[in-house]
Amino acid sequence: MPLKWKWFNNSEPFRWTFGYSEVPEFAYFYLPLWAFVAATLVPTALAWRSDTLATRRAHIGFCAKCGYNLSATAAGVPCPECGAKV
Ligand SMILES: [Zn+2]
Repeated sequence: MPLKWKWFNNSEPFRWTFGYSEVPEFAYFYLPLWAFVAATLVPTALAWRSDTLATRRAHIGFCAKCGYNLSATAAGVPCPECGAKV
């Protein structure tokens, strides 16, 4: 069966789920928009949280990478715990 694109008119019901249907002339997939939003949102939220955490650690004198307390470490010396440049 050759793959063919077709836009549906508004008589199609709104769908929230993934789906696949096959009729004699063609087959079609349902791809809900929330799946694309979720696929974008989850990595973005994780990266944002990681960045916020690193910024907060660096601001209060902790290593941005591992959270080690750098109050007793000389300035310009790499983190003794993970080796990250401070
Ligand atoms: Zn560290």
